[in-house]
Amino acid sequence: MTSSNSPAAVLFADLGLPQPLLQSLSELGYEKPSPIQAASIPILMEGRDLLGQAQTGTGKTAAFALPMLTNLDPKKKHPQLLVLAPTRELAIQVAEAFQRYSRNMGFSVLPIYGGQSYTNQLKQLKRGAQIIVGTPGRVMDHINRGTLVLKDLEALVLDEADEMLRMGFIDDVEWILKHTPESRQIALFSATMPKEIKKVATTYLNNPEHVKIETKTTTASTIRQRYSLVNNNQKLHAFARVLEVEDFDAVIVFVRTKLATVDVAEKLSARGYRCQALNGDIPQNQREQVIDKMKRNKLDILVATDVAARGLDIERISHVVNFDIPLDTESYIHRIGRTGRAGRQGEAILFVTPRERRLLNAIERATNSPMETMEIPSANDINKKRATDFKELIKTTIDKSDLEKFHQLVSEFMQEGDHAPETIAAALAYIAQSNKPLFEAETEFKPPKREFDRNDRNDRGRGRSSRDGNRDSRDNNRDRGKRKKGPHKAEDMRTYRIQVGRNDGIKPGNIVGAIANEADLDSKNIGHIKINDDHSTVDLPKTMPKAMVKKLQKAYVCGKPMGLSES
Ligand code: ADP
Ligand code: MG
Repeated sequence: MTSSNSPAAVLFADLGLPQPLLQSLSELGYEKPSPIQAASIPILMEGRDLLGQAQTGTGKTAAFALPMLTNLDPKKKHPQLLVLAPTRELAIQVAEAFQRYSRNMGFSVLPIYGGQSYTNQLKQLKRGAQIIVGTPGRVMDHINRGTLVLKDLEALVLDEADEMLRMGFIDDVEWILKHTPESRQIALFSATMPKEIKKVATTYLNNPEHVKIETKTTTASTIRQRYSLVNNNQKLHAFARVLEVEDFDAVIVFVRTKLATVDVAEKLSARGYRCQALNGDIPQNQREQVIDKMKRNKLDILVATDVAARGLDIERISHVVNFDIPLDTESYIHRIGRTGRAGRQGEAILFVTPRERRLLNAIERATNSPMETMEIPSANDINKKRATDFKELIKTTIDKSDLEKFHQLVSEFMQEGDHAPETIAAALAYIAQSNKPLFEAETEFKPPKREFDRNDRNDRGRGRSSRDGNRDSRDNNRDRGKRKKGPHKAEDMRTYRIQVGRNDGIKPGNIVGAIANEADLDSKNIGHIKINDDHSTVDLPKTMPKAMVKKLQKAYVCGKPMGLSES
């Protein structure tokens, strides 16, 4: 077994890769092989079987693609290499990598996956695809139909084998393995090595070489890890503040459930971020579009579950936010591996609730690095940042825009009245903030005040709070449809009117999001919501403090003033 912790000292040229590959690598800006690449490439080039283990983001794709491309023959027009990947996204990603690496060689690479039309796949298969990258189900289909013939297959790669196991594809994978010639070479890559994967390896791999790259140094070196201790119902507020001051390019936010992806994404969108949910319920082609949008700079925040985001490689991701702490340390390592790609600096932020402190300790032990604590920015910090940004905007506008007409307008205005230039500028700044106040009024990030909610306290007394504190906001969203019959007694609630309705595109989620965020009110306290064409109504606890009502009166929903009033 090869085990390595230190960065490889070799160069790609030392590994005996052919010139066209070295050329593409230098075009791609790869300087030297990563440890898994340095260890795997020579073994696979020799034609030996390999069992490779390394965490995500360590360059496993090139670790198999480069030697395989070296060994394949561009002149033979039948399927020579089959790569199996767990998801459509990963299949596309790997196929794209093959295309990039082989662009000076002339191979035809074909991704095949479920959900895509057969016609197109068939056409391309007939045309003589040499490298097939597919998900197990669709590959099986094509083998069964006789449209994918593997009798001359040279090599097979099982990529992210543990994930294929987790997604229940292991029988399909074995079936496919049995439908390939005995003589084919096999490379099996996996971030973890559960016993089922080991079993596949011992059954099908021929005297394989094991390569294992230890994970510890990879997490610690390029990713700064910070955490903040917050209560569950503070998380969104805390996160929103962090987002305001943090200098980010793209962010991936991890939550524990599919419902939470939608919930958090809605709330962030309501705050004006370009944000979308990514979960297993979203149809594949839409997921792909979302990822593509992220890559093309059209989207900045993805809220995802572990499964939906596994293995995603988006270079722009500067921040990974663990909105919900993962339950196992391996997931944590996988998650934060979405940033700090290929030696860049990345940021990992973790929210921990008091009862999850032990999980935090476990993560620190596993990654072998204590995390920094992170203060939630105060309103003052945020206002300072907003002021700086605003000044910057003024400066770039002066530098870059054609202001002539406005100059005239301002001169006219000055001649007509007796106003100091500063006063005029201040008035224009006031107008420029449009309906959104530039400065946050609240002074401190306070722990939530929930004392006003009697039910809540009673529950605690009866021990109902012994259930996992994480469930609260999400489980309540699950109740959204049933809110009518919810836990709220009509006599405890008051109906308020909101001047935004169906015509403005509002959905109950927007109202829940806006109210929960703006008033820092746990969504469990939000009662029945009714959407009409030109207005909506929402039931809120009678015990809600005046200050909260005031705040809501100034709040926005779907970009419009909520105009909350008693109905
Ligand atoms: P894994 O499959 O282990 O999760 P990937 O193969 O997706 O990792 O690679 C992660 C990222 O690192 C990709 O963006 C890839 O282009 C980049 N990369 C891989 N190898 C190198 C290298 N030797 N030098 C620079 N970047 C690399
Ligand atoms: Mg991979």
